[in-house]
Amino acid sequence: MSSSSDSKTVAKELSQLKKAMVFCHVFPDADAIGSAAGMTLGLLAAGVEAELHLPEAVPERLKGLVIGVPLTDQLPSSDCALVVVDTANRARVAVKGDLFPKEVSKVFNIDHHISNPAWGEINLIKGDYPSASCIVLEILEELGVTLSEEMLNLLYAGLLEDTGSFRFSNATPIAFESAARMVGLGASPEKVANLIYFNIPERVVKLRGIAIPQISKKIEGQIGWLVVTNKMLEQAGAVGGDTEGLVDEVRALSGVKGSVMIREREGSWKVSLRSKVDNLDVNKVAQALGGGGHKAAAGITLEDELEVVEKKILEGLRKELTGV
Ligand code: AMP
Ligand code: MN
Ligand code: MN
Repeated sequence: MSSSSDSKTVAKELSQLKKAMVFCHVFPDADAIGSAAGMTLGLLAAGVEAELHLPEAVPERLKGLVIGVPLTDQLPSSDCALVVVDTANRARVAVKGDLFPKEVSKVFNIDHHISNPAWGEINLIKGDYPSASCIVLEILEELGVTLSEEMLNLLYAGLLEDTGSFRFSNATPIAFESAARMVGLGASPEKVANLIYFNIPERVVKLRGIAIPQISKKIEGQIGWLVVTNKMLEQAGAVGGDTEGLVDEVRALSGVKGSVMIREREGSWKVSLRSKVDNLDVNKVAQALGGGGHKAAAGITLEDELEVVEKKILEGLRKELTGV
């Protein structure tokens, strides 16, 4: 099955599994963790022996949401199915040692990125869904399992973060309808917001204090721009994941159509692109450079020197903005 399946069929296939290992993307955000951990709990409730594969620790701000989820960094056995969520392509699957398991019974690819090429065996790609966690909600409803508060908070966190607290263009009726179902069934918006937004470590506040003054405008003021170097992280005593959400400070700048945040990693630069207008499709820009994502939020990792990275991004954006 290469083209996209539907939630009912996928739920049926999942319910027939004996063993499953759930995966998400590298540098996981709330949707990656929320949909993967929610799926793991849902599969367990459906009687499937399920574990969540995470090669690294759960990001700090999400730790309080991941309750009672069996975690592993071991690779699955050959009788195990892989259930991958929120992951646009195979290269982005977070796997210990970068060893994508070969001998597995089946690979499910459940995602909402429009750039997803349906790379699994069983693909459920809903590009009009605001978060992967909304697709997982639908699958768990089809499975008929009882949704616990833990599961619902995980799914709600994914939806909340991917829609920028219901502020982005993906805050569609599907987003609000899914939120209403999650909250109606027992998700706690207050608890989730307290954990993921009102829980900022001091080092992150420091990092923001160092980074925000560095925000500039490029391309005749149309694009907000920020480069976060390892030196800035060091100054603040911050770690890699602490830049999460900073790109939204750049997008918030008045007058810009979109924003770019480039952050240093070991031997590469992670570029985050955001758009706040209809005629700037950042997924196009990202895809042309080997990345991907959504129309309003996309990313790429580039291994060139910073000047080359900046030049590539600026050229791509200029082309997209001027249509040449
Ligand atoms: P980020 O800027 O990392 O928050 O990513 C924005 C969106 O683009 C998210 O939905 C990511 O999953 C997606 N994305 C980021 N980097 C890549 C990549 N290299 N390839 C495909 N999708 C990506
Ligand atoms: Mn994600
Ligand atoms: Mn997502």
